[in-house]
Amino acid sequence: MKKSKQLVVTFCPKVDESLRGYLLRLAENNCYHSILPMLKVIGLNDFTFITSTNKHIFESIATLTGVSIDQLMSRAYPSVSSKLTFFLGHPLHRKFILLNNVRICPVCLKESPYCRIIWELSPVTTCPKHNCLLIESCPVCGTKISWRRSHVAICKCEYDFRSIKPPKLQNHELKLSRHIHAVVNYKVYNNCDHPLDKLTLNNFLLILFFIASQVLTTNYAQHGRYLLPYVQNTLLHEILTQSYAVFDDWPFKYYQLLDTLRKRHGDIELKKSPKKTLFMYRKRISREFSDNELHFFREAFDSYYLGEHIGSGSKASINRHAKT
Ligand SMILES: [Zn+2]
Ligand SMILES: [Zn+2]
Repeated sequence: MKKSKQLVVTFCPKVDESLRGYLLRLAENNCYHSILPMLKVIGLNDFTFITSTNKHIFESIATLTGVSIDQLMSRAYPSVSSKLTFFLGHPLHRKFILLNNVRICPVCLKESPYCRIIWELSPVTTCPKHNCLLIESCPVCGTKISWRRSHVAICKCEYDFRSIKPPKLQNHELKLSRHIHAVVNYKVYNNCDHPLDKLTLNNFLLILFFIASQVLTTNYAQHGRYLLPYVQNTLLHEILTQSYAVFDDWPFKYYQLLDTLRKRHGDIELKKSPKKTLFMYRKRISREFSDNELHFFREAFDSYYLGEHIGSGSKASINRHAKT
């Protein structure tokens, strides 16, 4: 790896700035066309450094930028294992991080033009500060915003993203992003016995995406665990908002979802082998959600499974509301 002199213009990253966002700001201020031509002088040709654990890479970036290795590495996503990586100290499945796609809040950029690291979490589809959806494409030329762009806030068509006035979202659409912001910052969001409140970020998102796969698919006993392939932010936002609401009034909305899935899916498979399908689902839950923290989820499904098999969610909900 080549050593290099420090850049002409240097400055420290902002507290909540992402590593690639910081490098883009440096590239822009040092008149490079984009990040990679700037990093080429230290021998980097792609963005794989973002998940690297190689300290030498960060030493070179530190020399180039004049900031400490710790400041740089704390903003990177170093791999912990084949699946897990770190996100601001949280061990997290890599699929929850946007490694290629980019999202921005135009109003945050207008306030201060730098890229917030929280935008790089795939389930963060909104900006709770400005009550709006994050955007991922230029509204004028339609180009997807990428890390290969020249400017933090200006598209290659010269449209300034800070001119966008995004429509305001409703309160319930912002809850998930608010919750994630709280968990990332080690704070409690709901503070009222919400089942997701005490989970690690990774467990929270595992459960959320598991539910999302069932909101999305008609086949709840099989695939769809991570909403693959990548879906657009607007669709992901819709699915995750619905999925997050499943945890309100726990576990009754979940039971209602299971009832709906059974009705939707059951005409074909459940008629043949209703117990087998539920058994497979139960097996999957036991296998994938074995962590102690997730016992509430296993227990809820067991109650459903061991209860009345068909319609138990609806019945439980009716019984519950009858009592109140
Ligand atoms: Zn914002
Ligand atoms: Zn454009």
